[in-house]
Amino acid sequence: NPFLSVSLPDEAATRRLAEDLAAILKPADLVLLSGDLGAGKSTFARAILRARANDDELEVPSPTFTLVQAYELPQFPVSHLDLYRLEEPGEVLELGLDDALETGAALVEWPEMALGYLPDPCLWLQLTCDPDGDARTAEFQSACPDWRARLERTRQ
Ligand code: ADP
Ligand code: MG
Repeated sequence: NPFLSVSLPDEAATRRLAEDLAAILKPADLVLLSGDLGAGKSTFARAILRARANDDELEVPSPTFTLVQAYELPQFPVSHLDLYRLEEPGEVLELGLDDALETGAALVEWPEMALGYLPDPCLWLQLTCDPDGDARTAEFQSACPDWRARLERTRQ
Protein backbone atom coordinates (compact mmCIF):
# COMPACT_ATOMS: atom_id res chain seq x y z
CA ASN A 1 0.00 0.00 0.00
CA PRO A 2 1.22 3.49 -0.76
CA PHE A 3 2.32 5.47 2.30
CA LEU A 4 2.10 8.73 0.39
CA SER A 5 -0.07 9.88 -2.49
CA VAL A 6 0.47 13.23 -4.20
CA SER A 7 -1.77 14.95 -6.77
CA LEU A 8 0.13 16.48 -9.65
CA PRO A 9 -2.17 18.85 -11.56
CA ASP A 10 0.45 19.76 -14.15
CA GLU A 11 4.00 19.09 -15.26
CA ALA A 12 5.41 21.81 -12.99
CA ALA A 13 3.94 19.98 -9.99
CA THR A 14 5.65 16.79 -11.12
CA ARG A 15 8.95 18.65 -11.41
CA ARG A 16 8.53 20.14 -7.94
CA LEU A 17 7.91 16.72 -6.42
CA ALA A 18 11.02 15.43 -8.22
CA GLU A 19 13.03 18.34 -6.82
CA ASP A 20 11.85 17.49 -3.31
CA LEU A 21 13.02 13.95 -3.86
CA ALA A 22 16.33 15.15 -5.34
CA ALA A 23 16.99 17.10 -2.14
CA ILE A 24 16.80 13.97 0.04
CA LEU A 25 18.48 11.58 -2.40
CA LYS A 26 21.60 9.81 -1.08
CA PRO A 27 24.20 7.42 -2.45
CA ALA A 28 22.89 3.82 -2.53
CA ASP A 29 19.30 5.00 -3.07
CA LEU A 30 17.35 3.08 -5.68
CA VAL A 31 14.19 4.76 -6.99
CA LEU A 32 11.85 2.76 -9.21
CA LEU A 33 9.56 4.70 -11.55
CA SER A 34 6.47 2.89 -12.82
CA GLY A 35 3.59 4.03 -14.97
CA ASP A 36 2.24 3.82 -18.50
CA LEU A 37 3.92 5.44 -21.48
CA GLY A 38 3.53 9.18 -21.06
CA ALA A 39 2.81 9.02 -17.34
CA GLY A 40 5.82 11.23 -16.62
CA LYS A 41 8.60 8.84 -15.51
CA SER A 42 11.23 10.50 -17.71
CA THR A 43 10.00 13.97 -16.82
CA PHE A 44 10.39 13.03 -13.15
CA ALA A 45 13.84 11.48 -13.63
CA ARG A 46 15.05 14.45 -15.69
CA ALA A 47 13.95 16.90 -12.99
CA ILE A 48 15.80 14.91 -10.32
CA LEU A 49 18.98 14.86 -12.43
CA ARG A 50 18.78 18.57 -13.24
CA ALA A 51 18.24 19.44 -9.59
CA ARG A 52 21.18 17.32 -8.47
CA ALA A 53 23.30 18.76 -11.27
CA ASN A 54 22.27 22.29 -10.34
CA ASP A 55 21.70 22.77 -14.05
CA ASP A 56 18.23 23.42 -15.46
CA GLU A 57 19.45 22.67 -18.96
CA LEU A 58 21.30 19.41 -18.33
CA GLU A 59 20.65 17.16 -21.32
CA VAL A 60 18.86 14.02 -20.17
CA PRO A 61 18.12 11.87 -23.19
CA SER A 62 15.93 8.84 -22.61
CA PRO A 63 18.27 5.84 -22.28
CA THR A 64 15.80 3.68 -24.20
CA PHE A 65 18.46 2.07 -26.39
CA THR A 66 21.54 2.22 -24.18
CA LEU A 67 19.32 1.22 -21.20
CA VAL A 68 21.61 3.04 -18.78
CA GLN A 69 23.15 6.48 -18.59
CA ALA A 70 25.42 7.49 -15.71
CA TYR A 71 25.71 11.15 -14.66
CA GLU A 72 28.72 12.42 -12.76
CA LEU A 73 27.18 15.08 -10.53
CA PRO A 74 28.65 17.41 -7.89
CA GLN A 75 27.93 15.31 -4.76
CA PHE A 76 27.62 11.77 -6.11
CA PRO A 77 26.83 10.05 -9.40
CA VAL A 78 23.27 9.19 -10.39
CA SER A 79 22.44 6.50 -12.96
CA HIS A 80 19.30 6.66 -15.07
CA LEU A 81 17.99 3.38 -16.43
CA ASP A 82 15.10 2.69 -18.79
CA LEU A 83 14.42 -1.04 -18.94
CA TYR A 84 11.61 -0.88 -21.50
CA ARG A 85 13.72 -2.74 -24.05
CA LEU A 86 15.29 -5.24 -21.70
CA GLU A 87 14.91 -8.63 -23.37
CA GLU A 88 14.88 -10.71 -20.23
CA PRO A 89 14.79 -9.75 -16.55
CA GLY A 90 18.23 -11.19 -15.70
CA GLU A 91 19.91 -8.97 -18.28
CA VAL A 92 19.64 -6.11 -15.82
CA LEU A 93 22.60 -7.69 -14.00
CA GLU A 94 24.83 -6.66 -16.93
CA LEU A 95 24.01 -2.97 -16.62
CA GLY A 96 26.26 -2.23 -13.64
CA LEU A 97 23.48 -1.26 -11.28
CA ASP A 98 25.10 -2.84 -8.21
CA ASP A 99 28.34 -0.98 -8.87
CA ALA A 100 26.48 2.26 -9.49
CA LEU A 101 24.73 1.93 -6.13
CA GLU A 102 28.05 1.54 -4.32
CA THR A 103 28.95 5.14 -5.04
CA GLY A 104 25.72 6.78 -6.10
CA ALA A 105 21.97 6.60 -6.58
CA ALA A 106 19.90 5.10 -9.40
CA LEU A 107 16.58 5.94 -11.04
CA VAL A 108 14.94 3.07 -12.92
CA GLU A 109 12.09 3.41 -15.41
CA TRP A 110 10.13 0.24 -16.26
CA PRO A 111 11.42 -1.77 -13.27
CA GLU A 112 8.72 -4.40 -14.02
CA MET A 113 10.99 -5.58 -16.85
CA ALA A 114 13.59 -6.75 -14.32
CA LEU A 115 11.30 -8.18 -11.70
CA GLY A 116 13.18 -10.31 -9.21
CA TYR A 117 16.60 -8.93 -10.24
CA LEU A 118 16.57 -5.49 -8.67
CA PRO A 119 18.31 -4.93 -5.33
CA ASP A 120 16.38 -3.98 -2.20
CA PRO A 121 15.50 -1.83 -0.34
CA CYS A 122 14.16 0.86 -2.53
CA LEU A 123 11.53 3.46 -3.12
CA TRP A 124 8.84 2.68 -5.64
CA LEU A 125 6.93 5.51 -7.28
CA GLN A 126 3.88 4.76 -9.38
CA LEU A 127 2.65 7.56 -11.67
CA THR A 128 -0.87 7.30 -13.03
CA CYS A 129 -2.61 9.54 -15.55
CA ASP A 130 -6.00 10.93 -14.68
CA PRO A 131 -8.57 10.31 -17.44
CA ASP A 132 -7.78 13.43 -19.41
CA GLY A 133 -5.51 16.43 -19.36
CA ASP A 134 -2.27 16.93 -17.52
CA ALA A 135 -3.18 15.64 -14.08
CA ARG A 136 -1.19 12.75 -12.64
CA THR A 137 -1.14 10.99 -9.31
CA ALA A 138 2.09 9.87 -7.66
CA GLU A 139 1.98 7.03 -5.15
CA PHE A 140 5.02 6.07 -3.10
CA GLN A 141 5.68 2.65 -1.63
CA SER A 142 8.66 1.37 0.30
CA ALA A 143 9.41 -1.41 2.72
CA CYS A 144 12.09 0.80 4.18
CA PRO A 145 11.11 2.99 7.18
CA ASP A 146 13.97 5.37 6.41
CA TRP A 147 12.44 6.27 3.04
CA ARG A 148 9.04 6.85 4.59
CA ALA A 149 10.50 9.15 7.23
CA ARG A 150 12.59 11.11 4.76
CA LEU A 151 9.69 11.68 2.36
CA GLU A 152 7.19 12.51 5.04
CA ARG A 153 9.58 15.19 6.31
CA THR A 154 9.56 16.89 2.89
CA ARG A 155 5.74 16.99 2.86
CA GLN A 156 5.39 18.97 6.09
P1 ADP B 1 7.21 8.39 -19.55
O1 ADP B 1 8.69 8.43 -19.31
O2 ADP B 1 6.43 7.92 -18.35
O3 ADP B 1 6.83 7.63 -20.78
P2 ADP B 1 7.48 11.20 -20.21
O4 ADP B 1 7.96 11.91 -19.00
O5 ADP B 1 8.45 10.90 -21.30
O6 ADP B 1 6.70 9.88 -19.75
O7 ADP B 1 6.31 12.02 -20.87
C1 ADP B 1 5.30 12.63 -20.13
C2 ADP B 1 4.59 13.62 -21.05
O8 ADP B 1 3.42 14.13 -20.42
C3 ADP B 1 5.48 14.80 -21.39
O9 ADP B 1 5.23 15.18 -22.73
C4 ADP B 1 4.98 15.88 -20.43
O10 ADP B 1 5.14 17.17 -20.96
C5 ADP B 1 3.51 15.54 -20.33
N1 ADP B 1 2.85 15.90 -19.06
C6 ADP B 1 1.69 16.56 -18.97
N2 ADP B 1 1.30 16.70 -17.70
C7 ADP B 1 2.26 16.13 -16.94
C8 ADP B 1 2.41 15.95 -15.53
N3 ADP B 1 1.50 16.37 -14.62
N4 ADP B 1 3.52 15.29 -15.11
C9 ADP B 1 4.42 14.83 -16.00
N5 ADP B 1 4.33 14.96 -17.34
C10 ADP B 1 3.25 15.60 -17.81
MG1 MG C 1 10.30 7.37 -20.17
